[in-house]
Amino acid sequence: MLGLMQSQPLLISSLIEFAERHHGDAEIVSRRVEGDIHRYTYRDLSRRSKQLANVLDGMGLQFSDRVASLAWNGYRHMEMYFGVSGSGRVLHTINPRLHPDQIAWIVNHAEDQVLCFDTSFLPLVQAVHARCPSVKKWVALCDADKLPADSGIPGLVSYEAWIGGASSEYAWPVFDENSASSMCYTSGTTGNPKAALYSHRSTTLHAYAAALPDVMNLSARDSVLPVVPMFHVNAWGIPYSAPLTGCKLVFPGPALDGKSVYELIEAEGVTFAAGVPTVWQMLLNHVKAGGLKFSTLNRTVIGGSACPPAMIHAFQDEFGVSVLHAWGMTEMSPLGTLCTLKNKHLALPRDGQMKILQKQGRAIYGVDMKIVDSAGNELPWDGKSYGDLLVKGPWIVADYYRSEGGSPLVPDAQGRGWFPTGDVATIDADGFMQITDRSKDVIKSGGEWISSIDIENIAMAHPAIAMAACIGMPHPKWDERPIIAVALKPGAEVSREELLAFYEGKTAKWQVPDDVVFVDAIPIGATGKMLKAKLREQLKDYRLPGL
Ligand code: ADP
Repeated sequence: MLGLMQSQPLLISSLIEFAERHHGDAEIVSRRVEGDIHRYTYRDLSRRSKQLANVLDGMGLQFSDRVASLAWNGYRHMEMYFGVSGSGRVLHTINPRLHPDQIAWIVNHAEDQVLCFDTSFLPLVQAVHARCPSVKKWVALCDADKLPADSGIPGLVSYEAWIGGASSEYAWPVFDENSASSMCYTSGTTGNPKAALYSHRSTTLHAYAAALPDVMNLSARDSVLPVVPMFHVNAWGIPYSAPLTGCKLVFPGPALDGKSVYELIEAEGVTFAAGVPTVWQMLLNHVKAGGLKFSTLNRTVIGGSACPPAMIHAFQDEFGVSVLHAWGMTEMSPLGTLCTLKNKHLALPRDGQMKILQKQGRAIYGVDMKIVDSAGNELPWDGKSYGDLLVKGPWIVADYYRSEGGSPLVPDAQGRGWFPTGDVATIDADGFMQITDRSKDVIKSGGEWISSIDIENIAMAHPAIAMAACIGMPHPKWDERPIIAVALKPGAEVSREELLAFYEGKTAKWQVPDDVVFVDAIPIGATGKMLKAKLREQLKDYRLPGL
């Protein structure tokens, strides 16, 4: 017997329709590339997304054709999220921090037909456009009078001139909720990038889940600042969860330095912000240096790479801002786990609570996870056994777009497919997962594993250290031994011996790094993460002391 409820596909257009009808006057504030602040409402967003949809229809773009963006977080990018996907096309958000060769490669791989870019990326577009034959239309996301002159890009049009004349009347088409809605390529640290191809259903379910109280706890009373970029995994789904809740949205545009982000938080009464640790470090440095306070910010979700406990402490103890540690990946839309306490933890002393809050967290409904040994056997949830982390759920990839290597899924005894995350983790009896490492970064010393994240976290708690990266170095007896590469804060000093002494009592003796390497900066990749492969390359002539 089938249920007798209305059948309505979960489509991205329903989010903007809902926001228009129920939160029409909620604000969307954007810092623009031009530097000024732009304000409008969900009602305006809906109207202009419809104009864009009409333009795409007018061009004769087919269902599922790809429309690409190279853009910061801002209202025009948001219009693409709804106008492109809502009208049945696939939004391809490109990470502008990728190498131009990679950008040209993914534009060709995705067969993008339209590419809209913020004018700050004009040099990038000039460098790649001749290599992107599929692109029929290049659009600069700017006012008509700001269109770059003599750009050399054939047929370049400003976004405002492009959509300005189009009607804002549009009936969003209804189609299968499993249709593709958007795509995002992974950074491709090994080999060519691979694309996660999200669907309307996966995106809408993820948007619901992201708003839950134990996830981002978003509501119509919040003012939300996604610092995490809309060009990488849809700003962790915030552009979709925002219209679902009717929260005020604040977009930082290109200004991601501590001062600009802080000013926006204060000026717009931001209550909730999301970002990666490297960006939050800049914010904390600015706030600490100026003796400033947050007057409205009460919580922040931090993920993308391990959030050092020192950062959690700084936010919570010095500024009263709760840190929600999150873990996920491009292939997971991206949210997998988020760390909040359970009822039974409320009576724990502060230290006990902090130990839990440093973990990557509990699975969100919709995501299941397990850890397995090298033979694929499931390992116990005891908080100690570590193994490869596998996940499954309706917003996790089953395959990559135009994948040549076959499905990445690993079947279990029941034939259900699990996605191997490439992370090594523990899971405790309460279901809190903790990432030990990316499997390729784990250090194998004398048959035991050392978590590079643990070793980095200790260094990061030292007041002189701006950033720390732990990597394994070949050792004839132990196989590998850890060393810690550190970049110091401006003007700060610490000697090799002092830093090594700092590890005493904080970790087992055999896990203490064999050496400290001082570097000007730790290499950072396109998504704000440390590039350990590049660091290893830089240190290829390094030898451990005594070898
Ligand atoms: P990429 O495109 O570089 O693969 P992703 O954003 O998809 O970028 O990266 C996902 C990976 O980032 C995870 O598999 C994990 O290794 C790492 N990661 C994400 N969040 C965390 C976290 N909170 N702690 C530790 N590692 C994290």
